[in-house]
Amino acid sequence: MSAPTILEIALPTPLRRRFDYLPPAGLAPDALQPGTRVQVPFGRQQLVGLLLRVKSESSLPLDKLRAAETVLDRDALLPPELLNLCLWAADYYQCPVGEALHTALPVLLRQGEVAREQGEPYWHLTTEGKGLPEGALKRAPRQAELLAALQSRGQLNRTDFAMLGIARSQVKALEDKGLAACREQTLTPPPATAILRETPLTLSEEQQAALARIPAEGFQACLLDGATGSGKTEIYLQAIARTLEQGRQALVLVPEIGLTPQTLARFQSRFAQPVVALHSGMNDRERLDAWLQARDGRARIIIGTRSAIFTPLAQPGIIIVDEEHDSSFKQQDGFRYSARDLAAMRANRLKIPLILGSATPALESLHNARTGRYQYLRLSRRAGAAQAPTIHLNDIRRQTLEEGLAPDTLSAIGETLRSGNQVLVFLNRRGYAPTLECHDCGWLAECGHCDARMTLHQAPRHLHCHHCDHQRAVPKICPSCRSSHLQPLGQGTERSEEALRSRFPETRILRVDRDSTRRKHAFRDLLTEVHSGEPCILVGTQMLAKGHHFPDVTLVVILDADAGLFSTDFRGPERMGQLLLQVAGRAGRADKPGQVILQSHHTDHPLVRTLMERGYHAFAELILSERRLTQLPPFRHLALVRAESKRPENAVAFLQQVRHLAEQHHPANHELGYLGPLPAMMEKRGDRFRYQLQLNAAGRKPLQALLARLAPELENHALAKRTRWSIDVDPQDMS
Ligand code: ADP
Ligand code: ZN
Ligand code: ZN
Repeated sequence: MSAPTILEIALPTPLRRRFDYLPPAGLAPDALQPGTRVQVPFGRQQLVGLLLRVKSESSLPLDKLRAAETVLDRDALLPPELLNLCLWAADYYQCPVGEALHTALPVLLRQGEVAREQGEPYWHLTTEGKGLPEGALKRAPRQAELLAALQSRGQLNRTDFAMLGIARSQVKALEDKGLAACREQTLTPPPATAILRETPLTLSEEQQAALARIPAEGFQACLLDGATGSGKTEIYLQAIARTLEQGRQALVLVPEIGLTPQTLARFQSRFAQPVVALHSGMNDRERLDAWLQARDGRARIIIGTRSAIFTPLAQPGIIIVDEEHDSSFKQQDGFRYSARDLAAMRANRLKIPLILGSATPALESLHNARTGRYQYLRLSRRAGAAQAPTIHLNDIRRQTLEEGLAPDTLSAIGETLRSGNQVLVFLNRRGYAPTLECHDCGWLAECGHCDARMTLHQAPRHLHCHHCDHQRAVPKICPSCRSSHLQPLGQGTERSEEALRSRFPETRILRVDRDSTRRKHAFRDLLTEVHSGEPCILVGTQMLAKGHHFPDVTLVVILDADAGLFSTDFRGPERMGQLLLQVAGRAGRADKPGQVILQSHHTDHPLVRTLMERGYHAFAELILSERRLTQLPPFRHLALVRAESKRPENAVAFLQQVRHLAEQHHPANHELGYLGPLPAMMEKRGDRFRYQLQLNAAGRKPLQALLARLAPELENHALAKRTRWSIDVDPQDMS
């Protein structure tokens, strides 16, 4: 009797194991390639899983195995390289393999959809449209604009519309008039000859030296460290051109907020080869199409956010991670992977170069550069004519503030506006005020479900907990002493907007935060207004800090520089420094020199002083030396086991058990240490009590070995059922 054929399958279940099935009846064995999707019965449902391997033995008796229903793909859905990366990542981040693969695949493929491109609608002019005389549609300028775009480009798709700021209604109007029509078109392989659409810039000496040190092939991680405007993107573009010339593809990762139409446009206008984007604003079909185009090699440059690291590539040639320090590269729930770190792993396995670019590199990356693991490329000057902004520290102690703004700051704003320029006021707190306070008894509006205060919002007026989303009406009298002297406490963007509006009644004030940009296209419309160049004041949160260039902003005001200094998260100061410099980098591009005013109550704080007087690198050195003393990353490796439950004792008991088990496997010593269980920074959130156990290790190996033994034990532990728990390897957010 020949050996049985058994399929080992990853299924999207929270269970940390692989599942064995028999092949579907009547299937030729050569149809069973690892990496194909298989539909299988699971309990009473049908699940779509991924075939990991075909084997001849199972730990279960054969008559207990069920047969798979159907094999959904003729060929492997993923190249082996990517499948193996996912398996490695599932192990490393302690995520059930089915869940990890599930996260890595486009939604439609998880649901069993055929892996075939549907084709994208393109609009073109009809014969009638082409025959229009010059100056037609004069009375409908928006339609004329679209007509002109179609005339010059031949055809346009939805991405083009988004980039050109063309609305659906404009397109519809031309269609209704019979001037434009739509046809579906799949991306065709590009002609291999034309790589560039425009001539690249002549690199500065510094840029040239940096590019020369990025190898054209073979693995090498390079940290490209240069201020905003120093010409990093130009280096990416030229490195990509080299890759395309070799007939290979480029994968570019950017933070969620950095994938702007401007970024895309810059790549598309440089290259004559297909550029596709992958981001959360696309629908499932668009995402699948882009994924397939990348896999089949028709898309040559793929620009995407975090999960794009799992894009299959037919001819991978280079990976670039822009703003590599950005915390959005780490997924905070479920499959808690770091796209930046996986990029390094993937490039290494593919033997291709990796560029990590940032104006404010993560301390981990600087450390890797210093210890020689990364090639360190530094751009010290701004490219083109632009000068670095000058930074003034404004000590606001004992100054009379007008709604958070010091007198000097206000006069600088006034001057900037008078000279016809724009101002950016940065405040990383949305809403009207961080909370509401009773002037008579000191009562504060606290959230009943969290250890947190409720934010006061004015438009519409309500109290809102930003942690659990609980909302309620604003009380008219104090619930504690019945006084009616309730007042907002502190500053939020709505309040700053109001204050600036009454102080500068003639000036346009544009607020940019999550509330003001909720409506579709609201952000885009705001940006269009800023780019008109008219004097205005932009007030906003970190949405303003990344990805956007505001060429006419010559003054940046940072209202509350101190927030991160005293954070209990050890990364607080690092994040603060990065954010401040990112915001400061918005000013003074092109020919207009910029200035930055930083208001602080702690101008003597060594970190603030160092950052302002000696810059990010000295600041980073200072934090790194503290981290070395306190034995925190990058000098030690961390993992957190988190647990939360409605009854605090359940979560604590579970974590105590985790620690007990861990110590049995590996008693605490220099190699591996344990801290906790301790309450999370916000102990109660959404009615759940949250605790964490920290594991810290001198190296990744012992930590990985311990976690690999612990995770399956925890999964089966009786106490685990009474709490929600998770493991976070290399946690970025310690809260
Ligand atoms: P970064 O990505 O570091 O912010 P960019 O590559 O966007 O910097 O460059 C900033 C500006 O300087 C852009 O407008 C870019 O076109 C211009 N620039 C970059 N490199 C050069 C160069 N070698 N010569 C002239 N202008 C350049
Ligand atoms: Zn009161
Ligand atoms: Zn709450």
